[in-house]
Amino acid sequence: MSKSLQAIRGMNDILPEQTPLWRYFEGTVARLLDNYGYRQIRMPIVEFTELFKRSIGEVTDIVEKEMYTFDDRNGDSLTLRPEGTAACVRAVLEHGITGGGQVQKLWYIGPMFRHERPQKGRYRQFHQIGCEVFNLDGPDIDAELIVLTWRLWGELGIRDAVKLELNSLGTAEARARYRDALVEFLSARLEHLDEDSQRRLKTNPLRVLDTKNPDTQAVLVDAPKLADYLDEESRVHFEGLKARLDAAGIPYVINPKLVRGLDYYSKTVFEWVTDKLGAQGTVCAGGRYDGLVEQMGGKPTPGVGFAMGIERLVLMLEALDKVPQALSRQVDVYLCAFGEAAELAALSLSERVRDQLPNLRLQINAGAGSFKSQFKKADKSGALYALILGDDELAQQVVGFKPLRGQGEQQSIAWDALAAHLATCVVQG
Ligand code: ATP
Ligand code: MG
Repeated sequence: MSKSLQAIRGMNDILPEQTPLWRYFEGTVARLLDNYGYRQIRMPIVEFTELFKRSIGEVTDIVEKEMYTFDDRNGDSLTLRPEGTAACVRAVLEHGITGGGQVQKLWYIGPMFRHERPQKGRYRQFHQIGCEVFNLDGPDIDAELIVLTWRLWGELGIRDAVKLELNSLGTAEARARYRDALVEFLSARLEHLDEDSQRRLKTNPLRVLDTKNPDTQAVLVDAPKLADYLDEESRVHFEGLKARLDAAGIPYVINPKLVRGLDYYSKTVFEWVTDKLGAQGTVCAGGRYDGLVEQMGGKPTPGVGFAMGIERLVLMLEALDKVPQALSRQVDVYLCAFGEAAELAALSLSERVRDQLPNLRLQINAGAGSFKSQFKKADKSGALYALILGDDELAQQVVGFKPLRGQGEQQSIAWDALAAHLATCVVQG
């Protein structure tokens, strides 16, 4: 196929073999969020570029080198959203739904776009489910976000494979004081820093803590510690969060180098990481951003949230063999009909059965075919049972009912009794 007719590198089709697992994952998360009282919000995929520059920060990896930005026909600079928080904040401000201290517990799902080097677990179009909570400033809500993700890992069967890392960045003022101390310390050791870190020291010094370079890491061992610069309010907040996680029995480790890539965080930051995915180990990340709404032109409004990467979690379910068995079967019953009169009867019979059993996965043979070919299709569909409707069955107003997996003889079932019979032998999801 010519290159121009292929999908863009790092942007993937999700094929029918994979969608059941995606839907299972998305459905599980959606149900959980409903149960905790979060309401879904849907934002556009494209926003003004300025929105992301203002919220994420000019000197972050995302804004500096990862955004898909283009001019539209009016000459406006637009960007495919690289994450969800900025647009969510824009939306709540635009609609005034956080005004007067109104609490909002929101969630969203959808594709995000970043121009990164594609590799396993890292793509240019990827998908996130995220939560954002506004107007709650206590550690109780930070804890709730973590508790609900912990419950999710439990439901998915992957708790043993994830680890919670926590840190507190303090208030903006505390962070500024720490930044000064860090810059002073690192500037005196400039020649020992890698090139990237030297650059970051000028633009976004906290990100130096994130370096993978061993020499720079060695320098950092004696660097000032963020924890020593925490303001009292942030310290108490962080203690409150830890006490709640302890009470809920959720294990965590404090990672003093966890600073997150985005500018807008304050106080709590956290990541759920796994060692099952190689280098792309963070499956869910978030934190508090009490200054962001104001920074974007709103009244001071505390906020906290997280986003999880669906591709990475789907990969993890596969790697850990946690794909539910039930997902492999998409059809319960396959209806074969032979001859035109039988086909007409099959259609009305199947519609009657669907009326009575709305959850039954009933596939009706399309494209006619011989006895042999229809049976082959029935078997290939994965159905548990085949229903057979030919001239004889038509005359007697019955269907042949044939188990396709394992034991049981074929039997005749009266049309009127068919739904009740299927209800007893097909366990409906
Ligand atoms: P990383 O350090 O892996 O680049 P990040 O800090 O840039 O992650 P966030 O912006 O916090 O990521 O996004 C939240 C989650 O979204 C990540 O933890 C990850 O699971 C997922 N994610 C981020 N970027 C990608 C990507 N390019 N491809 C697939 N998933 C991604
Ligand atoms: Mg990134």
